[in-house]
Amino acid sequence: MVVGLLFDTTRCIGCGACASACKEQNKLPGPVEDHLTAYTWTTVQPRAGVSVRQLCMHCEVPTCASVCPVGALQKTPEGPVVYDSGKCIGCRYCIQACPFDVPKYQWDRPVPVVGKCILCADRVKEGRPTACAEACPVEATVFGKREDLIWDARNRIRKGPGTYVNHIYGLQETGGTSVLMVSGVPFRELGLKTSLPPEPPALQTWQVLSKIPDFVAVWAVFLYGVHWITSRRETVARVEQAGKGPKHPGDRA
Ligand code: SF4
Ligand code: SF4
Ligand code: SF4
Repeated sequence: MVVGLLFDTTRCIGCGACASACKEQNKLPGPVEDHLTAYTWTTVQPRAGVSVRQLCMHCEVPTCASVCPVGALQKTPEGPVVYDSGKCIGCRYCIQACPFDVPKYQWDRPVPVVGKCILCADRVKEGRPTACAEACPVEATVFGKREDLIWDARNRIRKGPGTYVNHIYGLQETGGTSVLMVSGVPFRELGLKTSLPPEPPALQTWQVLSKIPDFVAVWAVFLYGVHWITSRRETVARVEQAGKGPKHPGDRA
C-alpha cells in the first residue's frame, strides 16, 4: 500500500501547525524557517493570495535516490523516501539532482548530513498518519492511500470547477509523487515548477550515464575515494557515539 499526502491550498489557513508538528516529531532544532533547510523540512509560505506548503514530494521514482552512489536515500514500499546518514558520504549529488530543490545540507556542522522530510516513515509503518496531517486543523493536509487521495482530489475538482484549477500537481510530474496538491490558483503562480516531464528524471539519469564512456573512469575515481568515505563514516559514528552531535533526526532505527 503506497501512502501519501494531499495538500489543498483552498483549505489552508496558513496557521503553520503542520510545520511546527514536523519540528517536534523529528526533533529538529530552531524555529520554522521561511524556506526549506536541513532543519526545516516543511514550511508554509504566502503566495499569490494563498498559503502553500513546501516539502519533499516523495517521488515515485526519486531522482535523489537514483543518483546516490551509496544508497543513502531509498524509496520504501509504503511511499516515503527515507535517508540514512550512516551511509551518506556527503557528495551532495541528491541536492543537485532533486527536481524540486528539496534536500538541504547541514553547512553549519563539522560532519554535515542531509535534511529533508521523510514522510514520517516510522509512523506510517505503524499505520499512523504523518505528524503534519494529524496537526492540520482544517484538513488542508490529509494523509491516506495515494489512490484514495487521487480519487479525493478528482472529486474536489469535479465538485468545484470554479474553485479549483483542473490539475492535480504530483499526479504525473516526474512520473508521479506521493505528495499531491490541488489549488484554486494556477501552480505556476504559486512558484511550483510546471514544466516537469511526466517521465521520471531518475530514468533519464541512467540513460544518459549509460551513454557516457567516461562514466567508467569517473566511477574509478569514485572508488578511489573509498578511503575518505570510510573515514567520514567513522567520524560520523564517533561524533554520534560521543553525543557531540545528534544522530540525524530523519534516520530510522
Ligand atoms: S522531491 Fe527531491 S528529495 Fe524528494 S523524493 Fe523527489 S527527488 Fe527525492
Ligand atoms: S510528513 Fe512528517 S517529516 Fe514530512 S513534513 Fe510532515 S511531519 Fe514533517
Ligand atoms: S496545518 Fe493545515 S491549515 Fe495550517 S498551515 Fe499546515 S496545511 Fe495549512
